[in-house]
Amino acid sequence: MAISEVGVVGGGIAGCTIAYELARRGLKVTLFERGPIAGEASGRNMGLLLNQTEPGVVSIMRRSLEIYRELAKGEVEFQLREVPQLVVATDESQFAAMSKRAFEMRAVGMQVEEVGAAEVRRNFPALGPRFSGGHLIGNAWMLDPAPATIAFAQAARAAGAEVRTGDRVAQVAVGGGRVQGLVTDSGRHAFDAVVLAAGPWLPDLWRPAPVSVGRGWVLRTGRLGFRLPWIVEDSGWPDQDQLGRVSRPPTLGEVAGGHDEPVVQAFVIAQLPGGEALVGASLSPSLRDAYEGVDMPRRIAAHALAAAPGLAEIPITASWFGLRPMTPDGMPLAGPAGPVGLWVHGGHGSIGMMTAPALAGWLAKAIADGVEVPELANLRMGRFGLPAGAG
Ligand SMILES: Cc1cc2nc3c(=O)[nH]c(=O)nc-3n(C[C@H](O)[C@H](O)[C@H](O)COP(=O)(O)OP(=O)(O)OC[C@H]3O[C@@H](n4cnc5c(N)ncnc54)[C@H](O)[C@@H]3O)c2cc1C
Repeated sequence: MAISEVGVVGGGIAGCTIAYELARRGLKVTLFERGPIAGEASGRNMGLLLNQTEPGVVSIMRRSLEIYRELAKGEVEFQLREVPQLVVATDESQFAAMSKRAFEMRAVGMQVEEVGAAEVRRNFPALGPRFSGGHLIGNAWMLDPAPATIAFAQAARAAGAEVRTGDRVAQVAVGGGRVQGLVTDSGRHAFDAVVLAAGPWLPDLWRPAPVSVGRGWVLRTGRLGFRLPWIVEDSGWPDQDQLGRVSRPPTLGEVAGGHDEPVVQAFVIAQLPGGEALVGASLSPSLRDAYEGVDMPRRIAAHALAAAPGLAEIPITASWFGLRPMTPDGMPLAGPAGPVGLWVHGGHGSIGMMTAPALAGWLAKAIADGVEVPELANLRMGRFGLPAGAG
């Protein structure tokens, strides 16, 4: 059956990108967001488009970048800018990890250049005595995440989509093995197909979705008083598969023992166009609505000072958290979800700004044209051995 009317759930980067891609293929699209556009992780992240070690992620990121560059010519400004990434080692163990990573990146054809400690210090004197060298990784970009997400919503509207904020989806209506529509706060709406892009809330609407939650915090500084020419990151952030493993839901025993510890912590600093900077980052398995992680700004600040003690006098003007939708292997979910006409675009974890635009394009092709798209072969829900029919 040809698809003509599609409902999309979620107004984060996943929902806005898929609404845009479907609408520009001529489908009648309605997006439902219970709050504002980009009100959750998609508007609260660091906006980094980096090269990961995994070749699969690098090729997805490159495709997303092409889409962002095209979108940047449109109506909503989102400060897309190229800023090289400098991975620094702030102790001996990180130096070994960094050298291994540089080797792996070169092996997949990425541009990685060693930078001497003296040159790094000339631009970033705040680094401490334990700092022992850096690697510069090319083709890294930054953007302002909330306006970038809103830019996709606006492009979706321009292509004919209806974007409804303040309209919560309560249920996916399924009958006779296929999707019938959505039940929302404003009533029942009929659709031929539905795309669930509800971030960490995906399992509330489709129980088999293998999505857990990784809470992450960010600090924002006042003006640094110098220009930092790189996104500076220590080597503490793991690869996607390790991220997936450590961000599984906590056990009852772990909750009883206090689950509120970060399982990943890294020092990342990236300057904003006005001279301020974002400092991160952390990841802790989250119970979503529980009161968690309130000492994380302190931990992030202490971790940042251990790497760069010269930042101690920089004012901190804000701190916030976001909830990352995690999967067991750290890679997103993009494909069919069981009943005919039900699709998932989710589980973007720590890389959703990098992955969502590219995956949305491929997923829209699969939905609109009814074809298998090779780029999505490894991203179906079925890779986790879900019940037959769950994708
Ligand atoms: C601190 C932090 C830093 C990060 N840094 C980066 C980075 O530098 N680069 C990068 O690529 N990624 C980064 N990420 C990850 C990125 O933010 C996420 O992968 C991405 O935002 C997930 O997008 P999403 O649309 O799937 O989810 P969300 O942004 O959570 O959007 C889901 C939307 O669905 C809505 N919703 C849920 N249930 C319903 C319902 N029943 N009815 C209607 N609406 C509903 C929610 O209100 C929400 O707006 C970071 C994340 C965090 C937390």
